[in-house]
Amino acid sequence: MNARLQRTLKRAVRLRDMVVISSDDLLRIDADGYQEIRRSATRARNDGQAAFVCDHCGFPVYAPREPNTKLPFWRHHKGAPRNCPWWTGEPGSTDMVSASQFQGAQESALHLRVKNLVAELLNADPLTTPGSVVVDEYVVCGDSRRRPDVRATYDGKPIAIEIQLATTQIPIIIAREDFYRREGRHLIWLTWNFMPVERAQLLTAFEDIFYSHNKNLFSLDEGVVADCREKGRFLVRAFWEHGSGWNSRISSLDELEWPESGLPFAVAPPPPWHLDFRNRWLAATTASGTGWPLRRDLLNELAGKIGNPELDWVSLDEIDTAALLNAILSFVAGKPVGSAQKNLTEVINTFLSSGRRFRFARLLRKIMSVTAEPDLLKKTSVSGKFAQALEDEQDGPESVPGKIALQLFPELFQKRANTA
Ligand SMILES: [Zn+2]
Repeated sequence: MNARLQRTLKRAVRLRDMVVISSDDLLRIDADGYQEIRRSATRARNDGQAAFVCDHCGFPVYAPREPNTKLPFWRHHKGAPRNCPWWTGEPGSTDMVSASQFQGAQESALHLRVKNLVAELLNADPLTTPGSVVVDEYVVCGDSRRRPDVRATYDGKPIAIEIQLATTQIPIIIAREDFYRREGRHLIWLTWNFMPVERAQLLTAFEDIFYSHNKNLFSLDEGVVADCREKGRFLVRAFWEHGSGWNSRISSLDELEWPESGLPFAVAPPPPWHLDFRNRWLAATTASGTGWPLRRDLLNELAGKIGNPELDWVSLDEIDTAALLNAILSFVAGKPVGSAQKNLTEVINTFLSSGRRFRFARLLRKIMSVTAEPDLLKKTSVSGKFAQALEDEQDGPESVPGKIALQLFPELFQKRANTA
């Protein structure tokens, strides 16, 4: 094991919301969550800001992957105080130096070949504006400039195509994406002959552009090129992996989704279960509550997620789960959900007017402390209701309502740094 990794940077703080993310949390976080951290740390660094800092010395940190194990870890940026007990050594030459070397590096013969191939195939596509295909010319935007491998106007849209052959590092990837976004040009990362592998084996450089394209990856290979030539269209092979192995299809650029901000994709990933459930619950809910029979189906689905085989919609309905969810959703949305009440004060006062819901008071106070204006909890009517309700026994995190809240609203229960 590398000696300089023996000391661990144990905790970092996300400045946006002061959430504490320990080195163990970082190992437990899923690939999507890790990528979010990786990107926001990089974007802040590119802009001369910090997104995450060491919980001990306050110096900016980032979360690279350890090259051998591919496991993410917290690391101080260059120049951190050496007397921080979590000092992890100066970042080695690999991260920074190769990133800066890359821009001056000779491009490979393959890179050159693919770039010219892209230009040739784009020129043959009737949706390409004649004369718009340019290879290796600078695009200027404000004080900065970039030289895309290929640019063109396609289907009325200015596009830039960058070839990614397992070399481009995240600071450069993010910088290019931000540059083209400011310039109003749609960027496409394109690789050559992509071979689907297990997600854990995916090269970091490919994983980064996979996330750039809403978890899609675009590649050219001999088969696609033959197809392009036969049809006189510019086609790409789009790959996506949404948790159940890789899929692919050949698409023309006009068949892709082109979001206003962000990069194009062929197939959007499904939303995570908890967000999908919340959306479906909201769709079934009006000012008069959450209607039957959808409420029964949704409660059954929720019961199945809690992992207690004795739970079903009846038992969840008995403890007033629908009212609890609508109260939590009201605070998340900042306005009443599932009731005709006028504001959040009425929501909480009405909710706590029923003795059978007193058990939820601690849970709701916690949620309100994260979502609502601090003054709301101090209102006489509200604090009076809580004082009364908190005299009853309260549901903890291991109770059924506690588990429901954690499953559906994980973002409300993250540990935050003490900012007092
Ligand atoms: Zn430190």
